[in-house]
Amino acid sequence: RSRALLAEQDRVESGARTYPRSLPIALRRGRGCYVQDLDGNTYLDLLAGAGVLSLGHGHPELVAAASAQLGELAHGLDFPTAVKDEFTRRQLGMLPAPLRERMKVHYCGPTGANGVEAAIKLAKLATGRGAVVAFHGAFHGSTAGAMAVSGNRYPKESVANGVPGVQFMPFPYCARCPLGLTPAVCDTNCATYLENVLTDGKGGVELPAAVIVELVQGEGGGIPATPEFVRRLRAVTWELGVPLVVDEVQTGCGRTGTWFAFERYGVEPDVVVASKALSGVGLPVSMLLYDRALDTWAPGAHIGTFRGNQLAFAAGLAALDVIARDRVLDNVLAREAQLAARLAGLAAVCPWVRDTRGLGLMWAVELADPATGAPAPELAAATQRAALDRGLIVETGGRAEAVLRLLPPLTITEAELDEAVDLLGAALLACAP
Ligand code: PMP
Repeated sequence: RSRALLAEQDRVESGARTYPRSLPIALRRGRGCYVQDLDGNTYLDLLAGAGVLSLGHGHPELVAAASAQLGELAHGLDFPTAVKDEFTRRQLGMLPAPLRERMKVHYCGPTGANGVEAAIKLAKLATGRGAVVAFHGAFHGSTAGAMAVSGNRYPKESVANGVPGVQFMPFPYCARCPLGLTPAVCDTNCATYLENVLTDGKGGVELPAAVIVELVQGEGGGIPATPEFVRRLRAVTWELGVPLVVDEVQTGCGRTGTWFAFERYGVEPDVVVASKALSGVGLPVSMLLYDRALDTWAPGAHIGTFRGNQLAFAAGLAALDVIARDRVLDNVLAREAQLAARLAGLAAVCPWVRDTRGLGLMWAVELADPATGAPAPELAAATQRAALDRGLIVETGGRAEAVLRLLPPLTITEAELDEAVDLLGAALLACAP
């Protein structure tokens, strides 16, 4: 039945489809960390809606909250509502103390890309400047502006990209250093390069309206920035008065073990974009948090029909309660330690695992030819398929598509995570080069 539906999708849906090409299943029902296909096969889901389902599929308390809200008020444009007001207050309350007072909230269209577009527009408005600095390997979305600041050339090549003024800088990708250095001689030269370009008043780039960064690159291959790089990025942007926009669409809402990843790095951004896991259960909404000093919007300056989603607010409030009550962030940190140890164990027996890295529950297993060190995308695709055949869903990503990405629900248990790594290990060994 899955195959029949996949064939039908081929016939009637857009050629831009991605997930079912590498994971050829049709979905029926999800519960917790598991999802079932149309034929009744059950999979442990380490894709979790691309990081959306932070509390797993169909969390009963979140479903109840959203269902009750649907009967009460489903859509509210940008009028004040009690549920929105409470959600805003609670979201601001999740910020570290100094930012709680300093930041304002703007609800954008429903997707992460909508939030990124709003962030870029706000930074341009507030600074009166035009350029934006972004990073190699970054992914910020598929709309024109978000695509322009994404470091991946592939989706942009085929369309004339009408968004000028984007400058890309090297990201600290230590497994494949963009400057060709080895960890032994690295002195965070990527940060030095960035500082040189930004502070060069005579050459380099025009002073940008913003620097936009993912602190852990997601689609780029699950690459956590190094703490020293982030510290220096914050210092130089602060010194120059360039707003630092942190894209927390994937890293936010507990994914890295703190509410936002910037807390783990000990820096304070000027603008934060959040979306995917805000509702905890897959209801679309995006949110910009930004320093009050940037609040230069004129009334109506950034409008849209879907600004905030009452159902997502209701579910998101329930999610915040569950996260606090069940100590979900503590679980993320405990599972991080478990994954770090278990993936290191896999790397020790699979010489084609070049690197394992991650933060919180955002992990990457990068595969390479053991002889040449070249990225091994075919091996990653075969391993992904072998994992699916064993009942495990993992995503691939990275510049060469040679990275297996693990993004389980934040509620995954120790036993479920052990089961996932066992299945991944079996798939890796079954595909040994
Ligand atoms: N930013 C980041 C860091 C993302 O990972 C994504 C989605 N993968 C986006 C932005 C875009 O979000 P959306 O697909 O909801 O537009």
